[in-house]
Amino acid sequence: MSLPSFQLHMPHTVDQAISLAGSLKGDSAFVAGGTDLLVNAKEQLNCHKNLISLSGIGAMKEMSRFSIGAAVTIAELIRKGEILPPLLSKTARMVAGPALRESATVGGNLLLNGRCVYFNQSKLYRCSHGACMKAEGKACIAVAQTERCYAPFSGDLAAAFLVLNAEFELAGPEGERIVPACEFYVNDGIHANVLNSAELLVRVRLSEDAFDFNCDYRKLRPRSSIDFPEAGVAVAVKKTNERASELRVALTALGPAPSLAVLRDDQLEQAKARGLADTLWKQLSPSVLAVRNTSFSPTYRREMARLFIEQMLESLLA
Ligand SMILES: Cc1cc2nc3c(=O)[nH]c(=O)nc-3n(C[C@H](O)[C@H](O)[C@H](O)COP(=O)(O)OP(=O)(O)OC[C@H]3O[C@@H](n4cnc5c(N)ncnc54)[C@H](O)[C@@H]3O)c2cc1C
Repeated sequence: MSLPSFQLHMPHTVDQAISLAGSLKGDSAFVAGGTDLLVNAKEQLNCHKNLISLSGIGAMKEMSRFSIGAAVTIAELIRKGEILPPLLSKTARMVAGPALRESATVGGNLLLNGRCVYFNQSKLYRCSHGACMKAEGKACIAVAQTERCYAPFSGDLAAAFLVLNAEFELAGPEGERIVPACEFYVNDGIHANVLNSAELLVRVRLSEDAFDFNCDYRKLRPRSSIDFPEAGVAVAVKKTNERASELRVALTALGPAPSLAVLRDDQLEQAKARGLADTLWKQLSPSVLAVRNTSFSPTYRREMARLFIEQMLESLLA
């Protein structure tokens, strides 16, 4: 459980951070609060000789109505949350516990390393169970195959940003690009998103549209005081002339990538006959890859997520 040695670099601008990452040729990682990266490093997971701290980059700690710097802490997001859509502070309050939220950042939460009962273990445990493909092994222990890692993405905030139609601003040696949150994640526990090496998540952007939705987030976890989600569901409802004109539902922790389903105007009318929750669940099902690699059973996690959708729709549409 001792932390492997590393060199810490302290850039003051996004450009400095990117050029450092480029010059260190793949043997570096960005570190924000370190609440995920350093915990894993102590278990000999995802270790790097160089860590590039984001804590000295002032521009990444700025927050306004339409922009949240990736290095803003989750505690700060809650404290200044009144300028943002209320869903964000509601979801942020359910992330971990108060002490951890003072260090944990928004960017780190969106880029959390996938978690699994066979991966988040000591090296001794991992190797005695046959070695997991996300660590030092070649096959998956949870599902006996070698094609895909099923470690679920277990961050809460991603679901909220997905239903709010957020965009991620990335910067790397090749320049800047904007990726919609719904195109950022990849359903594989090892290559879980489209971020390239040496690329930085600089900030999350919101549009005016994000303020037009009534939203809610519910989370299944063993202990409400601290645990990661076993299933997380965000629901957003937009009403036009007292009638629902758009429904958005995002899931997290039910597979290696968070996922999103959207119903608009005509689709809403057609869906009513079948039941809105059923229609949304059908859209989401192909990306739900819950397997037996967390505390609760995959069936329980799926059924609770399906129930959360129904309950939140009922109250938001009332
Ligand atoms: C006991 C415990 C309970 C927890 N419970 C929850 C929970 O209930 N819900 C939940 O969502 N999370 C939970 N977490 C996870 C915690 O929220 C995250 O660890 C935290 O948000 C990560 O942020 P960080 O700044 O510490 O990330 P770090 O640990 O610094 O980084 C995490 C990863 O993101 C990368 N990274 C960070 N920022 C950037 C960036 N801007 N650009 C590119 N790469 C970047 C790092 O290289 C690293 O790979 C828990 C953690 C612990 C230890």
